[in-house]
Amino acid sequence: MTDAITLGEHLRAQGISRRGFLKFCAATASLMALPPNMVPAIAKALETARRPSVIWLSFQECTGCTESLTRSHAPTVEGLIFNTISLDYHHTLQVAAGHQAEQARADAMKENWGKYLVVVDGSIPLGDPGFSTIAGVSNVEMLQETVKGAAAVVAVGSCAAFGGLPGAAPNPTGAVSVRDLVKDTPVINVPGCPPIPVVITGVLAHYLTFGKLPALDELGRPKAFYGQTIHDRCYRRPFYERGKFAESFDDEGAKKGWCLYKLGCKGPITYNACATTKWNEGVSFPIEAGHGCLGCSQPRFWDLGGFYKPLSQGTSTNAETLAAAAAAGVAIGVGSAMLSKRRKDQSQKEEV
Ligand code: SF4
Ligand code: SF4
Repeated sequence: MTDAITLGEHLRAQGISRRGFLKFCAATASLMALPPNMVPAIAKALETARRPSVIWLSFQECTGCTESLTRSHAPTVEGLIFNTISLDYHHTLQVAAGHQAEQARADAMKENWGKYLVVVDGSIPLGDPGFSTIAGVSNVEMLQETVKGAAAVVAVGSCAAFGGLPGAAPNPTGAVSVRDLVKDTPVINVPGCPPIPVVITGVLAHYLTFGKLPALDELGRPKAFYGQTIHDRCYRRPFYERGKFAESFDDEGAKKGWCLYKLGCKGPITYNACATTKWNEGVSFPIEAGHGCLGCSQPRFWDLGGFYKPLSQGTSTNAETLAAAAAAGVAIGVGSAMLSKRRKDQSQKEEV
């Protein structure tokens, strides 16, 4: 449940020094893409903040999003933030089971009415309420009941944000996203299959620090992390600009690290932070490992016509737009860069 003590007191009780706390604040600022001069303000806000109650609901999902989140080890920033929320209900991580678990959810809602956060991973089946139930309650019913007293909802992963794999054609369960159902409470989408751990924790850190959600794009994603495409920040971009493309995964071009566009990379149309934040504590990201981006943080990425089909051959959703790019190889890059720049400029204006 929400602590009576402040976050500053909680961290000190855990043995975290003032210096460690300020380091944490600096890392939080960088996580949220804020300038270093914001650190004192963040420290002041976090010192007096109280750990928010978080209720995590898992619906039609594969547990990959929780796996992603738990790929963080103390004393990383993710670990610290994970310790600074009160995670009162989470199917995978909670100790309680059965009636005791459901009681924990009810208690957390009652004690923190109007203030708690709901995190959802997984899509919600509307085809038949019996497709996915928890404690005998359908997903749609549990979502609607739980968000009633929530301050905000965080849809983690592409299934919760856009329907994801369960929603891919022919969508046998009638899967929908959180935003399709929740209309009266703010919803923030943190898509990805799975999402990057520091992006999940960065959003929670923003809420914890400022008591409100960050600026969002038109798909409900935080602009700080989804403001640019993978292509905009990809280290293989110079090869793309020079027309140097790998033609197969084991040819000379692939060995030399050339662009993976012709092998199906969806980086030019995918907004996410993989190329900058990277994965596994900043070690690498898929393109660095030699595989193109699948576009996992975009709506309906499963139905874009094939992971290994170049964008220039069109997709089921944007064939008309992209067919034109087939003739002019760099058109997508230029267009996407301009769009991203516009989004970034706009985002910076709004953040100030
Ligand atoms: S197409 Fe893919 S591999 Fe090539 S530069 Fe863009 S993001 Fe990188
Ligand atoms: S590189 Fe693309 S497919 Fe891979 S995790 Fe990032 S956004 Fe998703």
